[in-house]
Amino acid sequence: MGPRPEGSTPARGLRPGTPVLSDDDRRELGKRIGLLAEAFADAGHRFFLVGGLVRDALLGQGLTGDIDITTDARPDQIAGLVTGWAETVWDQGKRFGTIGARRGDTTVEITTHRAESYDSGSRKPHVRYSDDVAIDLSRRDFTVNAMAVELPGWALLDPFGGLTDLTNGVLRTPSAPESLFADDPLRMLRAARFSAQLSLTATPELVAAVRSSRPRLSIVSRERIEAELTKLLELPQPCAGIDFLHDTGLLGDLLPPWQNAETPVPAAGLDAALDAASGLDELVTLRWAILLGPVCDETAAARCLSALRCRSATTRGAAAILRAVRALDAAVADTGTSGDIGPDAWRKLARRLIADHEPALDAAHAVLAAWGRAVREPLASLLADVRADEGDGLRRLPVDGHRVMELLGRSGPAVGEALSWLRSQQIEYGPLSAERARDLLVAWAAAKSDTPPEEGGPGAFEPAH
Ligand code: ATP
Ligand code: MG
Repeated sequence: MGPRPEGSTPARGLRPGTPVLSDDDRRELGKRIGLLAEAFADAGHRFFLVGGLVRDALLGQGLTGDIDITTDARPDQIAGLVTGWAETVWDQGKRFGTIGARRGDTTVEITTHRAESYDSGSRKPHVRYSDDVAIDLSRRDFTVNAMAVELPGWALLDPFGGLTDLTNGVLRTPSAPESLFADDPLRMLRAARFSAQLSLTATPELVAAVRSSRPRLSIVSRERIEAELTKLLELPQPCAGIDFLHDTGLLGDLLPPWQNAETPVPAAGLDAALDAASGLDELVTLRWAILLGPVCDETAAARCLSALRCRSATTRGAAAILRAVRALDAAVADTGTSGDIGPDAWRKLARRLIADHEPALDAAHAVLAAWGRAVREPLASLLADVRADEGDGLRRLPVDGHRVMELLGRSGPAVGEALSWLRSQQIEYGPLSAERARDLLVAWAAAKSDTPPEEGGPGAFEPAH
């Protein structure tokens, strides 16, 4: 899909001013915000739906996300007008022109038309208001996000051909992309996200502007960058967005291990991972592992994610997955060089992997699959069998440190030693019952106290205090 052909007519025969949105969407919106729109009209103000809601409704996706409104009313006037309608009002965004309000389960954010300008060293706009909705729309990031529907009447305002771009699959900025990206470099990451979210192809001008504006991203906080990347990785199919980041060079700026890497980006594998995760957090963690694994080990991946201020559960989770991937690779490599190691040795290997790497093993399999690789047989089947038969038992010991102290009457490093010996017994023989663990421990301690301590070794048990 290329850029919009010259002189093409708006899609689906719609022209600015034509009523849009389905009957259902209009009925629903009328129910939710009809009275509010009337209050603005009665006071002589204009009232426009904008942003993702308009875009997604035009795509036939129904009413998604927040209800964003733009109006010529100034913030104080907005605050006055929502008071009769809303049950809750919040005005923390008032100095940027935004008043939030809720009635029942409907939340709206109403912002005075803006005509902001930016400092060169910051992405914080000096807020300037406008009476002209077209000026407001021209400051928005992409043509597909720069459409408005006016209430009452439901007329579409689409001064930049957003509907045509949406239909033709084109991502384009309503004004010169260099200056939009210079004002707010986060828009470059939004471009990556929307190209994936809406299956849009960025125009060559947009791509060129991202390539030349990349260094400006340094003025954006890590937190904002992380939030935008997370939104991308949460999409059902982020592939096109990751390709965009890679093609424009942003990927290496954001994730240094990708700088100058020759390795292909596993973008398609990120899409495939959707089915392997059971929740959104897990999906994002898995996708970070898929994305970073080809260019770095788990330590560098964790460093990279911490630098991005990712949640620590995500950082730790991705590192654990990559550690498990490495262990699976090493297991396959070892057994590959030592020929047929026999069924017992295979089983012990599977037990060790489970004991050391659960619960990250499923994700590690998904990472390998995303890279177009699979765990070799017979390890794959054995892992599945051993997990089904013994998995739960292998992940924990039937006794804890307190019980070891009680049983052996000892404390100190010897307790850790006893637990780790018990773990090795589980790998050797499979999960132990509490009784069996007790018998083994008592016998082990007895045998140990008969053995003189090694020179420089941990020595005999210290008495418990
Ligand atoms: P979604 O809610 O699905 O993420 P959205 O388009 O509604 O998509 P929001 O972040 O909610 O995105 O923003 C609402 C609208 O505000 C956008 O559609 C766009 O018109 C405008 N907007 C948001 N962020 C920016 C930005 N950084 N620069 C310019 N316009 C923006
Ligand atoms: Mg939105």
